[in-house]
Amino acid sequence: MPILEVRNLNKVYDNGVHALKDVSFTVEEGEFLGVIGLSGSGKSTLLRCINRLIEPTSGEIIINGQDITKLNYSQLRQARTQVGMIFQSFNLIRRKSVLVNTLSGKLGRKGLWSSIMGYWSEDERKQALEFLKVVGLQQKANNRADELSGGQQQRVAIARALMQDPKILLADEPVASLDPATSHTVMDHLEAANKQFGK
Ligand code: ADP
Repeated sequence: MPILEVRNLNKVYDNGVHALKDVSFTVEEGEFLGVIGLSGSGKSTLLRCINRLIEPTSGEIIINGQDITKLNYSQLRQARTQVGMIFQSFNLIRRKSVLVNTLSGKLGRKGLWSSIMGYWSEDERKQALEFLKVVGLQQKANNRADELSGGQQQRVAIARALMQDPKILLADEPVASLDPATSHTVMDHLEAANKQFGK
C-alpha cells in the first residue's frame, strides 16, 4: 500500500484561480519525491492540501489508507501527527535552545499540560540529541536558535520534524532562502532524515 495517494485533486481558490487540476500520484514508503515547476504552478498549494492547511475543492488524499479529506477537525488533528512539515521560513522559537526547538516536534503527540510545562522525558531528550546528530548539530544543542545561521536553523527544523516521528515529511522549498553550498548540505541532511524513517 502506498504511504500517500493523491487522486484527482482540484483546488479552485475563491478568486477563481484553478491552482490544481486533476492531480494524481502515489508515493511509496521510503520514496523521496521532488515537485518541480514554475513559480505559481501550484507546488505550495499541493503541499498545503496534503495536510489540509488548504482545503481542496475536490479529490482524495489518502495517507496510510485513510482519506484525510473526509475527516472532521479532531480526526484531522490526529491524522496530522503523521505528517511533518518543513517550511521555507524555518518557524523556530528564536529565544529557545536548539534542543527545546527539536523537542517541540513532539508537541502534537503530547498532552496539553506537559506541553505547556515543557516536561520532556530522558528518552525524548536522548532522541532529540540523536536527531540533532543526524543533521550535524549535536554541538549546538544548547545554543539559542537565533544564534544559528540560516542553513543551521533549517537543519533544526528538519530535526524537529523527525522528532514528530511522521510517516510523511513535506518540505516546501526548504532551501529557497539559502546559498547553493548550504542548500546542498540541507538537502543531504533531508535525505539522511528520509533514511531514518525506515528505522
Ligand atoms: P507555487 O508554490 O508553485 O509558486 P502556488 O501554489 O503558490 O504556486 O500558487 C498557485 C496559483 O494559485 C497561483 O496562480 C497563485 O497566484 C494562486 N494562489 C495561491 N494562493 C492563493 C490564495 N490564497 N488565493 C488565491 N489564489 C492563490
